[in-house]
Amino acid sequence: MKQKLYDIPNHYPLNSSRRRAIDQHVARNAPDINRLFEQNRAWAKEIESREPGFFAALSRQQSPQYLWIGCSDSRVPANQIVGLVPGEVFVHRNVGNVAVHTDLNYMSALQYAVDVLGVRHVLVVGHYGCGGVLAALHGRRLGLIDNWLRHIQDIRIKHAALLDSLPESIQAESLCELNVIEQVLNVCRSTVVHEAWQSGQKLSVHGWVYSLSDGLIRDLHISLSDHGAMSQAYDSALAALPSLAPR
Ligand SMILES: [Zn+2]
Repeated sequence: MKQKLYDIPNHYPLNSSRRRAIDQHVARNAPDINRLFEQNRAWAKEIESREPGFFAALSRQQSPQYLWIGCSDSRVPANQIVGLVPGEVFVHRNVGNVAVHTDLNYMSALQYAVDVLGVRHVLVVGHYGCGGVLAALHGRRLGLIDNWLRHIQDIRIKHAALLDSLPESIQAESLCELNVIEQVLNVCRSTVVHEAWQSGQKLSVHGWVYSLSDGLIRDLHISLSDHGAMSQAYDSALAALPSLAPR
């Protein structure tokens, strides 16, 4: 009887002939996907040779210090940008790096990272050239996602006086920065961070923006460790947007 290729769990661990059969099946039907398996094996081998026992140790526990809230954009990979290996950063990504109070997915990631993992820093990281921000800025229609991007359009409307006073070439960069600053505030106002701070837990929330063109992160100078200085930090971050600096 011909073996099925999709019921892998029943045959785990794979014997060599079954692994070969799967490899051949994938190579025939999805060469692009096969490349990923090959690269995965090379990656795991390289890490294991550099640090024997790395994966075994990591599989027993994770204790990251950072929660990264970033954009889903393929050009903004959390770990690589800040040089962290697996196990060092807990990641939540969505289009436009938006922290919406009613988004159960984001809120669950935040709660798990803060309450269970005990991360010390939440990094809200936007990026210049963000397709979500550009669509929100120009009111471009892309489909269902327009509803998600309404959150960024709200920010565009909130800061219309500033944005409309800027040359068009700078507006997109400024809205990327404003979006991060607003999301930092959203994270700080969440019940999760509120309760963590109330109970004395050490936790800071930071706002950064990443540049696709040089691979560098700009600090938006909004780093909050309690509720006290929120509005002051917000005002001074708005006054120091990197996009508004003389060039
Ligand atoms: Zn983006």
